[in-house]
Amino acid sequence: MPDFHSIIKQFNAVFSPLNDLTISDLDPYGLEILIKRDDLIDPALSGNKWRKLHLNLVEAKRQGKQTLLTFGGAYSNHIYAVAAAGQHFGFKTIGIIRGEAPAELGATLRFAKSCGMDLQFISRTAYREKIIPNHIKIESCYVVPEGGSNLLGVKGCGAIVDEVYQQLEDDKPVDYWCLSSGTGGTASGIISQLLGRSKVLAFSALKGDFLKKEIQHLLELNDAGHFNNWQLISDYHFGGYAKHKPELIQFMNSFYEETGVPLDPVYTGKLLFGICDLAKKGFFNRGSRIVVVHTGGLQGLLGFRERFGPLVNFEF
Ligand SMILES: *Cc1c(COP(=O)(O)O)cnc(C)c1O
Repeated sequence: MPDFHSIIKQFNAVFSPLNDLTISDLDPYGLEILIKRDDLIDPALSGNKWRKLHLNLVEAKRQGKQTLLTFGGAYSNHIYAVAAAGQHFGFKTIGIIRGEAPAELGATLRFAKSCGMDLQFISRTAYREKIIPNHIKIESCYVVPEGGSNLLGVKGCGAIVDEVYQQLEDDKPVDYWCLSSGTGGTASGIISQLLGRSKVLAFSALKGDFLKKEIQHLLELNDAGHFNNWQLISDYHFGGYAKHKPELIQFMNSFYEETGVPLDPVYTGKLLFGICDLAKKGFFNRGSRIVVVHTGGLQGLLGFRERFGPLVNFEF
């Protein structure tokens, strides 16, 4: 039986692909677009949720903790990843879930439960106040915040930058890094690791401008608060988290048809829609090299299908 650290090492030894992305609509604009396919890291432990978790798993082990406790909504990609990580790396897991227990669990929570996660539903008010049920001995748990965006989560995302720089085939600089943001952890990790190179565009999946503060806060936590080569793009949230707009779904379907890259409606769909829209508006200079980070999240499509029907017409 290989030890814990060598399993993690194995997991990180294979880089996720960095592929050319050709979008015919953007041909006239002369851009070089590359996509970092973190959605392909692993079927269950994928995307930025793995990036944010791996150093936390090492730390939990170092502290001798046997249980991971975390927080999330009923469709959370983070809950899904923590449940899978627990099963894979031999931790018990507790998920504190926002809202009353539903009559029937959705796809995300069914999976989490099948991995052995102990699901604890608490009211939205209790959730906001982080009031954990009394019977849970929190001192004995390793607590990962919602979305996994603590300092080790931020640092873990630096690996995305390191991998891409090893994968690029020439020394031509990257002009832009584009990614989707929810809590800002991934954006902060990438900005920190770039050390001032490139410009990072964080596309907000949520309404409002609060993310700007959140990213700045996480940068400061990581001693990277002085980097200002980044910008929050807040025009492509499509109404917020759990909304779906026909225009976006149609875009995701035709994007898949052309590129073979599956997107989700909460994060990466909005990101690619936003990049295409900005490109058509002349935002990027001709000749720009752009790295797009596919942060995963495709498990969310299962729950999406359960709720809204087969609007997304691709498998993944
Ligand atoms: C959670 C998630 C994000 C948001 O990442 P943050 O680090 O919270 O900003 C982006 N994309 C996908 C697919 C996610 O699951």
